[in-house]
Amino acid sequence: MAEQVKSGAAAETMSVHVITCAGRLSAGQLKTIAEAAERFGTGEVRTDAQGSVKIPGIAAGRAAECRAFLEEAGLPTGAAGRHIRPVTACNASACRHGLLDADDLAREIHERFVLGWRDVILPAKFKISVGGCPNNCAMPNLCDVGVIAVRGGYRLLLGGRGGRRLLEGRPTQRVFADKEEMLAAVERAIQLYREEGLERERFGELIERLGPAYVEERIAGEI
Ligand code: SF4
Repeated sequence: MAEQVKSGAAAETMSVHVITCAGRLSAGQLKTIAEAAERFGTGEVRTDAQGSVKIPGIAAGRAAECRAFLEEAGLPTGAAGRHIRPVTACNASACRHGLLDADDLAREIHERFVLGWRDVILPAKFKISVGGCPNNCAMPNLCDVGVIAVRGGYRLLLGGRGGRRLLEGRPTQRVFADKEEMLAAVERAIQLYREEGLERERFGELIERLGPAYVEERIAGEI
């Protein structure tokens, strides 16, 4: 896995990323991360847009030890490379517009896809985000798959991405009334990307290449 990356220009030091579920961490987990940063790194931590926490400045020879320390405390590491990246979610459970508990759904996606597919290498990174309403606060429209709550269920946004070539996710025609059906569709989207994606091609580019109608039929399980 590519959880350890070079830190800056110095090849002698590495960073270890802690995978979080939508950036939610307990006080105890934060203490463990702080201890790891002081013991193995420079004492500094950094967060990223996915809400994962990076511990930089770890001597290359001690990165495995740092990972083991974190994993033993129940903190998975990874969050980089050609994998499903840590799920993000808005704050719907505390928002008057929220149509679902985004924390609960993010937890399911975290367990099932982020951790469940942790060792699976994909054509490129794959981001999933949960929104409690169509307002896009956690930017599900700029993720490979965005799950947004709408009246009557869930709609998926397919193929968004940020970066130099911005793509807005395409909303599925279908509203998934049932959560399990929606999650099965997300799984089919990842499977399609794994099977048919070209190296370094993002999911949005695959949709452009194969056609949105075909992709939506595939992820709906209709073909
Ligand atoms: S996306 Fe909707 S539910 Fe989530 S924080 Fe924004 S306004 Fe609230």
